[in-house]
Amino acid sequence: MTSALCPGSFDPPTLGHVDIIERCAAVFDRVLVGIVENPSKAPLFAASERQALLEDVFREFPTVEVATFQGLLVDFAGSQSVDVVVKGLRGVGDFEYELQMAQMNHELSGMDTMFIATNPAYSYLSSSLVKEVARLGGDVQKMLPANVYAALKERM
Ligand code: ADP
Repeated sequence: MTSALCPGSFDPPTLGHVDIIERCAAVFDRVLVGIVENPSKAPLFAASERQALLEDVFREFPTVEVATFQGLLVDFAGSQSVDVVVKGLRGVGDFEYELQMAQMNHELSGMDTMFIATNPAYSYLSSSLVKEVARLGGDVQKMLPANVYAALKERM
């Protein structure tokens, strides 16, 4: 059985995240979505709220689990016995950062990282930009799962 960890902030989860996790679930026997708890970054949604939103999005995917974690990604990955970390790549900006992270994580623990190229329909999407646009009154409905859009509207 092969298992993958899809880590991120998911504050909030977008359709770009959902696409990567779904494609990951089509390849791996088990997918663990790991939500980074980073209270110092003052997230819009608490980690437990992000977890509930993602659990709702993936409720019909029996092989997808959602958990939160603090600390080093490789420590969490090791404690959950995952085989590989999977990340989405939107463009060269992601690539430069993710390459460095992947090499650091491999150096720290031997854990490999695999990349899935973004669906071009979502390559412009990031959680931070969605929040900024929503704050300024822009329409972000098409960019989010329905439950996330509802939660964001309420939070704003
Ligand atoms: P963001 O950059 O949107 O704040 P996260 O830190 O939650 O996202 O990212 C988690 C993972 O999801 C990263 O691997 C990131 O590259 C990927 N990701 C985020 N948005 C997209 C997207 N629109 N398409 C593909 N991958 C994405």
